Amino acid sequence: MTDRQVPLDTDTNLENKKPLHFLQQIIRKDLEQGVHSSIATRFPPEPNGYLHIGHAKSICLNFGLAEEFGGTCNLRFDDTNPEKENEEYVNSIKQDVAWLGFKWNGDVRYTSDYFDQLFQWAIYLIEEGLAFVCDLTGEQMRDYRGTLTEPGKNSPYRDRSVAENLALFEKMRVGEFDEGACSLRAKIDMASPNINLRDPILYRIKKAHHHQTGDKWCIYPSYDYAHGQSDAIEGITHSICTLEFEDHKPLYDWFIQHLPVPAIPRQYEFARLNINYSVTSKRKLKQLVDEGHVDGWDDPRMPTISGMRRRGFPPAALRDFCSRIGVTRADGIVDVGVLEFCVRDELDKNAPRAMCVLRPVKVVLTNYPEHQIETLNIHNHPNREELGDRAVSFTQTIFIEQDDFREEANKKYKRLVKGKRVRLRGAYVIEADEAIKDASGNVVEIRARIIEGTLGKDPADGVKPKGVIHWVSATQHLNCEVRIFERLFTDEAPDAGGKNFLESINPHSLEILTGCKAELSLAKAKIDERFQFERQGYFCLDTKYSTAEKIVFNRTIGLKDSFAKIDDQE
Ligand code: ATP
Ligand code: MG
Repeated sequence: MTDRQVPLDTDTNLENKKPLHFLQQIIRKDLEQGVHSSIATRFPPEPNGYLHIGHAKSICLNFGLAEEFGGTCNLRFDDTNPEKENEEYVNSIKQDVAWLGFKWNGDVRYTSDYFDQLFQWAIYLIEEGLAFVCDLTGEQMRDYRGTLTEPGKNSPYRDRSVAENLALFEKMRVGEFDEGACSLRAKIDMASPNINLRDPILYRIKKAHHHQTGDKWCIYPSYDYAHGQSDAIEGITHSICTLEFEDHKPLYDWFIQHLPVPAIPRQYEFARLNINYSVTSKRKLKQLVDEGHVDGWDDPRMPTISGMRRRGFPPAALRDFCSRIGVTRADGIVDVGVLEFCVRDELDKNAPRAMCVLRPVKVVLTNYPEHQIETLNIHNHPNREELGDRAVSFTQTIFIEQDDFREEANKKYKRLVKGKRVRLRGAYVIEADEAIKDASGNVVEIRARIIEGTLGKDPADGVKPKGVIHWVSATQHLNCEVRIFERLFTDEAPDAGGKNFLESINPHSLEILTGCKAELSLAKAKIDERFQFERQGYFCLDTKYSTAEKIVFNRTIGLKDSFAKIDDQE
């Protein structure tokens, strides 16, 4: 954790001059008034899936506040549902948090670390006459619960004696009852207008193996019972969650009030992140994976943190995005264009440039020596000299994009046209003489000439080329595969209003290009390195399909917002 100055004297964050959001204001006030001498937050994922962009917001908020105010942030797995959880999810979540650039306080924690204490406190509630073992079935319990407009009814088991409840609860613990036979409930108020206070469940029987505690337990605490007490055990000061927990807050406070907990945490809610052209629900993302609509949780089209990582999104871009969208209590939908803007902005500043021809056509430079290999030094970045130069081989035969040549074109087309000139990026100006075609009329080879003396200089005859295109040597290159991704959904709101999100899956969201030609320097590309392929967008190595024999690049994102594309091609 950094020991940055706590911004006590103004209503803005000193570092970036942004107004403080409501949680920053609350924390600032708590520190100012001595309610807390330092703050502690936590990020509490349930290990039942991979994290998505919405979780990134929660991570940036919880870890970000701790950093900003010199406090700590714990990573705690909320592992009270053993059937849906597993170690693979635990590991992916740890990796995602670390990759985003955050360091949790001390060891990773688990709600299951506190199962003994939570069990003791359940006994305490029974002894205080505040909890009872209830034999109603799930269905009966729903009937007894009432509705938003009607009060509920007391369970017929509500008045069991303390001794009987203690004995029954012990029997639950040792596994004498079947799943669903009974549960432990708090005794609060079946007439409460807040349904969460109508004798909520504290413990249910689940004869399930647990990824952390093995077979030690066959009763598991509910989220509502476990969460606040775990916060108290860890000394969390500000327990930040999304708005759907607002109605659970009175219950959160009820437990804290009625149990001898070592600290008094407070719950605060903020609006969850929704993003268009996307779904942000672990359950739906899991369905996409399980039914094979995508290639795993880390498919580069997924809004998961691991998918975005594999696609090449830099962690700094995600942090920037989370800071731009802000923290409020008003629900809204953020345009995915904001995220894409942050990714482009970060990559434009930092990604070294390289050349790769995605759909190649051969160009033979008839006046260039056949076996000559000329080494050209090309800047890695147009305005960051410190990123250095790289060597690119120039030869008699090169590849350019098929799209970058036309036999005839109007003035708006600024690439290679028969009889006209174009500059090759970092190399010569060339002029096209002839197009050789196959039987079906496709151009298979272009014959052209270099204009002498044009390396870094304009042609001496004053006939300047109008455009610059990228190229790769036909003998000194790297063969590769390139994967181009489009949005996974064609519908802006794939799951809104009960729509079936599977119906708007974009059938063209993945295009695989083989036989692409990259400059040789890209043979040294490393995992986590990102490049701008000149005129094509930003790319990175694919971690799943790249092998020693086969190189696969993912297109992270195009250079321009394709939705706002202005066609400057003709
Ligand atoms: P999902 O709805 O995708 O299953 P969840 O809330 O069940 O998510 P948890 O593992 O319980 O997933 O979430 C961990 C933390 O992340 C919680 O504090 C939760 O409030 C927060 N969180 C989850 N989704 C979002 C979101 N879309 N925006 C902001 N925070 C989120
Ligand atoms: Mg949850």
